[in-house]
Amino acid sequence: MTVATLTAISAAVLAIAGTPAVADARSQIVTPQATVAAVPPRAPMPITYPVSAAAGIRYLSQIRLTFPTSVKCVYRTATRNSSGVIVSYGVYCTPKPTTAGSATVTITYTRGYYGWRASSVLKWLSSTYLGPAGAWAPASGTKASPGRWNPCKPAIIVKVNFGSALAPNPTRTAQEEALVKLAIANIKSRSGLPLVYGGRTKFMPTKSNRYDPTNPSGISMAFATAGVGYGRSDLLPGTVYNRGVGGFSSVSEVPPRIIDGFVVIDNRALSDPILTGGATGLRLAVYMHELGHAVGLAHADPDQYQVMYSIVRVPSARWGLGDLSGLRAIGRKPTDCQVVAPSIAAATSTAQTKEPSTTTILN
Ligand SMILES: [Zn+2]
Repeated sequence: MTVATLTAISAAVLAIAGTPAVADARSQIVTPQATVAAVPPRAPMPITYPVSAAAGIRYLSQIRLTFPTSVKCVYRTATRNSSGVIVSYGVYCTPKPTTAGSATVTITYTRGYYGWRASSVLKWLSSTYLGPAGAWAPASGTKASPGRWNPCKPAIIVKVNFGSALAPNPTRTAQEEALVKLAIANIKSRSGLPLVYGGRTKFMPTKSNRYDPTNPSGISMAFATAGVGYGRSDLLPGTVYNRGVGGFSSVSEVPPRIIDGFVVIDNRALSDPILTGGATGLRLAVYMHELGHAVGLAHADPDQYQVMYSIVRVPSARWGLGDLSGLRAIGRKPTDCQVVAPSIAAATSTAQTKEPSTTTILN
């Protein structure tokens, strides 16, 4: 799961309509290198927008939002890192927009002695629309015949290593544990897969060793810092903050049979401005998303209304219609787990002892 960020400001000098471009650096008009990706208004107010700390913005003097509707949004809050650099700003809207739309935002801020202005288009999503039912994809196999876990296993146990970042804070650990349990319950109830929270573990999944010996054929989940060593996992991309990764090993049958899974959450997600500030639902959405990979779902792109969209855009942690279709498809079906006569079972279970041959890792 990747992050949408207002990245560093480009040096290109561009004119905004109605504002003359001048040579004086103090009034240069610049545009962000990337379009700002808005958090949809299902989130509690304020809607929070991340700003790359690399932009070095210290003073936001004005944010002007031009909405095509009667919705009025105003800039209210800025969150700073320990160096005083703004890492996000919050916007309150009245009334809270309930339909999809977009707005132009103009941000005026100072960086050092110079005044800068950036402009970008913000988009937001409907608070009620859940997207089309077809908006999902399997991580292996095909949509008609997706790779999946054996739904007749008595239990698919999820054990979690809350890691060195959470260890000093038992209260916070318990809070994240509750969210993980909720994510497990959300997947179990919608897929029918027998997911069970198996408690805490010290095991850290890495590229070379993804599976907890105390939880064979289960899902190993961990909170980690990217890299190698104590409290770290090289399953996280070291250079890019992606919030988390999830995946599984599968046997190359048709359809593929998933035999064990893993999830690694980047510790930075615990203090991610988008995921905090009261919006614990967003962290729940991240846990649902990565566990969704571990049970066999890929990204629902380009539909932004799904939890399985590659960027978190659903602050209410509510499955979209595509997510629900996908969870049903990789989950337990009415025809699963029927008792089969022993002679037939022996004739059809030829691949039970195969070793895993494929590893699937998704951000
Ligand atoms: Zn993902």
